[in-house]
Amino acid sequence: MTPERTCVGCRSTEPKAGLVRLVWDEASAAVVLDHRQALPGRGCYLHPACGPVALKRRAIGRALRRTVDGDQVAVLLAELRPA
Ligand SMILES: [Zn+2]
Repeated sequence: MTPERTCVGCRSTEPKAGLVRLVWDEASAAVVLDHRQALPGRGCYLHPACGPVALKRRAIGRALRRTVDGDQVAVLLAELRPA
């Protein structure tokens, strides 16, 4: 069975392949995209389209238990959307 994860934006569950993983990177003290869903550390999952909702709810910082820079995360999430 495919593992399911909860999107931190809309709180619905989804097979992890349909979500993007975000991880707190200690070295850069910033949130990074985990494209292969394999980086160590505390991560959270998100639908690509749920970025704005998650930002608005400050859900990413809560999930990662870090004070995240909303602007930095917004730039990161903007990469997920097709131009
Ligand atoms: Zn979602």
